[in-house]
Amino acid sequence: RAKSEGGGVHRFFEREMDRQAQKRRDMELDLRSAFADGDFELHYQPLVDLAADRITGFEALLRWKHPEKGMISPADFIPVAEDIGLIVTLGEWVLRKACAEAAKWPDDIKVAVNLSPVQFRSRNLVQVVVAALAYSGLSPHRLELEITESVFLAETEANLAILHQLRALGVRISMDDFGTGYSSLSYLRSFPFDKIKIDRSFVKDLIERPDCVAIVRAISGLGRSMNITTTAEGVETIDQLDWLRAEGCNEVQGFLFSPAKPASEIENLLRRFGSQASQAA
Ligand code: C2E
Ligand code: MG
Ligand code: MG
Ligand code: MG
Repeated sequence: RAKSEGGGVHRFFEREMDRQAQKRRDMELDLRSAFADGDFELHYQPLVDLAADRITGFEALLRWKHPEKGMISPADFIPVAEDIGLIVTLGEWVLRKACAEAAKWPDDIKVAVNLSPVQFRSRNLVQVVVAALAYSGLSPHRLELEITESVFLAETEANLAILHQLRALGVRISMDDFGTGYSSLSYLRSFPFDKIKIDRSFVKDLIERPDCVAIVRAISGLGRSMNITTTAEGVETIDQLDWLRAEGCNEVQGFLFSPAKPASEIENLLRRFGSQASQAA
């Protein structure tokens, strides 16, 4: 009897696993054709400098408009694109597109682009960045590359060499999602990052949770003493903003200002939160 009951449960899980596997295969196929069909788009979210009190840059965030399923989150499709290696071509497209777009913005506005660890494995990442800069005419100091600690988990030496080459081009390197990994602190010693992005999970509970307060305070203090810019991700409320400003955090990003918007909205955003120089441009 127990066996037949187990069989039922077993069959249930088997069907569920088949369903998951099928979903996954569908996404792989869809991703490949989406790239060919031009269903990817870049949206841009403002980075607001707290001392200057204005937008000084935008983070490029990938959007996939599936013809039937609608918008699919990068959190869902980036891992699949990484597994099938598509992230290499997709990432190259993102770099070219973001640099070309940013070249049209005022000179004091930067663009931040996320890099996958898989792009480091492709080995020609540096040439891809050089080509994106050359093709767009964007000055290297206006490009920020965001990496997570996963870049250090394998091929550490090779990836560090690539990071140094990228930095030698004049581009800035940011440590994204800081504090969520296993040993974020040790990476600050192994590479001279230009910016630390404090993960949204710490900012989210800032007002209610003393542990988050302590962590964000420690990270911004660390940034200050190491001369690294600190950016708080996921700022949604005025209270969070006020607290971050008081703690000396340098930059904020979040729905309080704006979610990521299509390139056509950049001009409006700069008019609302930009500098005099940006407005004049
Ligand atoms: P990320 O690089 O940490 O990007 C910030 C994410 O936080 C974005 O999610 C953004 O929409 C979201 N966010 C910003 N402010 C707020 C806020 O106030 N509240 C909330 N709830 N969320 C906020 P998104 O666009 O869904 O991207 C998720 C992740 O996907 C990114 O996290 C990044 O790791 C990855 N990703 C996005 N675009 C690319 C890309 O072009 N290449 C690669 N390799 N990864 C990308
Ligand atoms: Mg990022
Ligand atoms: Mg981030
Ligand atoms: Mg994040």
